[in-house]
Amino acid sequence: MAARKTRKPRKAKTTTETAELTAEEQALQDKYPARRIVPGSLLNAGEDPHHPKGRTLEIRCERCDEPRRIGTSDLFQVRFCGPECKKEAKKEAKKEAKGEDKK
Ligand SMILES: [Zn+2]
Repeated sequence: MAARKTRKPRKAKTTTETAELTAEEQALQDKYPARRIVPGSLLNAGEDPHHPKGRTLEIRCERCDEPRRIGTSDLFQVRFCGPECKKEAKKEAKKEAKGEDKK
């Protein structure tokens, strides 16, 4: 008698999901090379209560290095942790563009 075993193939759902998220994260990083995406921070939609509709990830502020979670759809426009760094960076950029201070 041959023992026949039926084995259901197990789906490594989490692995696939993780791989998919990693791939997307990489794609986003390639698309926005200036952004400092925190590796492995990409989350599925709904996992962050502030962004129920889309995937989110963390970036590091270009000025103070503070991580900030944003929607992937905002990645193209968000560079800082908040309005204060944005303001300061703008000021600094202005100064640099002018080269010399007007007095
Ligand atoms: Zn900042």
